[in-house]
Amino acid sequence: MTEQKVAVVTGASRGIGKAIAMELARTGALVIVNYNGSREKAEEVKAQIEAEGNQAEIRQCNVADFKSCEDMFQEIISAHGRVDILVNNAGITRDGLLMKMSEEDFDAVVDTNLKGAFNCIRFASRQMLKQRSGRIISLSSVVGVYGNAGQANYAASKAGIIGLTKACAKELASRHITVNAIAPGFIETEMTEVLSEKVKEAAKAQIPFGTFGQPEDIAKTAAFLASDDARYITGQVICVDGGM
Ligand code: NAP
Repeated sequence: MTEQKVAVVTGASRGIGKAIAMELARTGALVIVNYNGSREKAEEVKAQIEAEGNQAEIRQCNVADFKSCEDMFQEIISAHGRVDILVNNAGITRDGLLMKMSEEDFDAVVDTNLKGAFNCIRFASRQMLKQRSGRIISLSSVVGVYGNAGQANYAASKAGIIGLTKACAKELASRHITVNAIAPGFIETEMTEVLSEKVKEAAKAQIPFGTFGQPEDIAKTAAFLASDDARYITGQVICVDGGM
């Protein structure tokens, strides 16, 4: 009998992370639903996964904190003995034009979005190297590929994810650990809900599909990259953006 896979999804208390957690649980994995502040929402995600007859646990950890990430992975590995899938999804925005962007807003976004992914890869890959297998998927963004006015911090963090992905892919390939990034376009979540109608309409005008994507569009892509079928795909950035 093959052992049940253990999947860690950061920032899984809502939005895209929640959809990815639910989809990975449907593939039979035990899903660790990570959150930072939203405990109740994380508990709801766990309950929804269990209501579908699948398995989940919740774990609090601020991914920007190196030591907290070390502790989280140590706890997971001592409880379950393995980590098969890591999805670096936790992310924040603190938008503003360059001349108004504070040092704190730059650091907060880069620390969560980019350093957070590094921290988790650092500790998950140690276990994956022992297992000689693993799947690492990180959320970039079309903004990391093309840039966007008012998002210098966010674009830098998401472009950084691409470099991190490509470097780690080369480093870990010999042990059959794949490392890929997904670059979503505009997806309907709380992150995009806060945009003004004017900005939303301007965004839609740039999308050949003419509509925002759904979290499930990203979840299906993540589940494929996490599957055995994607075993020979590594170092890639998959844009899921309605043709942008
Ligand atoms: P969201 O609805 O704002 O959810 C963000 C999630 O990240 C929440 O679960 C939040 O949990 C968690 N989080 C934030 N800071 C954290 C930290 N320090 N440690 C652990 N968890 C943390 O965002 P989303 O729209 O689903 O986006 C998910 C990912 O996709 C992000 O990386 C985002 O940049 C990327 N993305 C989104 C879009 C889009 O259009 N929505 C487009 C491109 C890329 P707590 O509330 O518990 O802190």
